[in-house]
Amino acid sequence: ARGASLTDFAEKINIDPAQLVQVLFNLGEMVTATQSVSEETLRVLSKELNYDIQVVSPEDEDRELLESFDIEFGEDEGGEEDLEVRPPVVTVMGHVDHGKTKLLDAIRKTNVVAGEAGGITQAIGAYQVSTEVDGDERKITFIDTPGHEAFTAMRARGAKSTDIAVLVVAADDGVMPQTIEALNHAQAADVPIVVAVNKIDREGADPTKVRGQLTEYGLVPEEYGGDTMFVDVSAISGVGIDSLLEAVILTADAALDLRANPEMDGQGVAIEAHLDKGRGPVATVLVQRGTLHVGDSIVAGTGYGRVRALLDDHGENVDEAPPSFPVQVLGLTAVPGAGDSFIVVEDDRMARQIAERRASRLRMAAQAAGTRRKTLDQLFDQ
Ligand code: GDP
Ligand code: MG
Repeated sequence: ARGASLTDFAEKINIDPAQLVQVLFNLGEMVTATQSVSEETLRVLSKELNYDIQVVSPEDEDRELLESFDIEFGEDEGGEEDLEVRPPVVTVMGHVDHGKTKLLDAIRKTNVVAGEAGGITQAIGAYQVSTEVDGDERKITFIDTPGHEAFTAMRARGAKSTDIAVLVVAADDGVMPQTIEALNHAQAADVPIVVAVNKIDREGADPTKVRGQLTEYGLVPEEYGGDTMFVDVSAISGVGIDSLLEAVILTADAALDLRANPEMDGQGVAIEAHLDKGRGPVATVLVQRGTLHVGDSIVAGTGYGRVRALLDDHGENVDEAPPSFPVQVLGLTAVPGAGDSFIVVEDDRMARQIAERRASRLRMAAQAAGTRRKTLDQLFDQ
C-alpha cells in the first residue's frame, strides 16, 4: 500500500473511514478520508489498530505491475544457446579536469571512418566504437553523458547499465578526491575498473606515482601482480588510445561473461532524454537484452508509444538496435528519466496501460509526500 487514501485503506481492512480519521486525530494528525496519506501514517495506523501491513518498495511494486501483464524485466529469455556475446558498456569517470571529455572525444575520433558524412556526428549521449583484439573486430559502447551523475542516478534506481568503468587520472595531478569517489562508486556497483593514466604528454607527468597511489586503494596494477589494467594515454596526442580499448576488451573477457539474447523483445535503460521542440520527447536508450525495432510498442518510465524512428550515434536512421547498442528513440508520449527502464510490449494499448498506472502511482506518492509536509508544517506552526 503506497500513496493510498484513508478510504482506500479503510476498504482494505473493512473498517469505517471515519474511525481512521478519528484515530489519527487522537494521535494529533489531521487528515480527511479522501486525502492520500504517507507510508509512515499507514504504519502508525496499522500499529494502532493491530494490523500487520507490508510496505512494498516502488521497485517491487513495478515488478508486480509488469508481472500482471506477463512481462519479466531484466532476464534473458531462453537458454544458453540463445545467448550471444554483446559489447561491454563503459562509463568514463574521474576527477574534474583530468580529461574525461577529451578522452571520450579522442576515442570517438579514432573510429571516425575517413570521409564519413562530412565528419559531422550528432551526439546522442552514447556511442559505439570498434577495435581489433587478437585479430577479431570487437565493439565497445561508451556512455558519453557526464559519467559521474549518470552512473550514480542510474545506480540509485537500481539500473545497472555499466559493465566497466574507465577511471581517468591525470598523471601530472595524481589521485584526487573525485578519483576516490568514482572508484568507490564503481567498486560498490561491482564494476571492474580500467585505469587510464592521462596527460602523459605533460611535463611533470608521473604515471608511476599514480600506480602507487591507486595501489593503496586496492587497485593493484597487473604489472605489480594485481588484476587491474593501467594504460598510459594522452587524450591530446592520441597516444595509448588503442591500448586502452584493448584493455577494456581484455578486462571484459577476463572478468565478465557479457552475453544477451538478441532474439527477444528489446529491454534496456534510458540514459538521457529531453523534449525536442520539433520532434517531441527524444530518449537515448541502451538496449540491454533483445532487439528494439522501429514500429515496436514500448513503455519507458511513464512514457509510452510506437517507435517512430531510431537514430544511431551518427544521427543516421536504423531499423533496429541489438544488445549494447545505444539509440535515440522517437515516438514517446512523455520524457522518461535517466535510469528508467524501457520495455517492448505486445501493443500500444498495453504500453499505455502500464505507463498510466505508473503515472497515477507517482501522482499519489507525490500527494502523500505533500500531505506529510503539510502535517509537519502544521506541527511547527503551533
Ligand atoms: P574533464 O573535466 O575530466 O572532462 O576534463 P576535460 O576533458 O575537459 O579536460 C580538462 C583540460 O585538460 C582541458 O583543458 C583539456 O584540453 C586538458 N587535457 C585533457 N587531456 C589532456 C591530455 O592528455 N594532455 C594534455 N596536455 N591536456 C589534456
Ligand atoms: Mg568533462
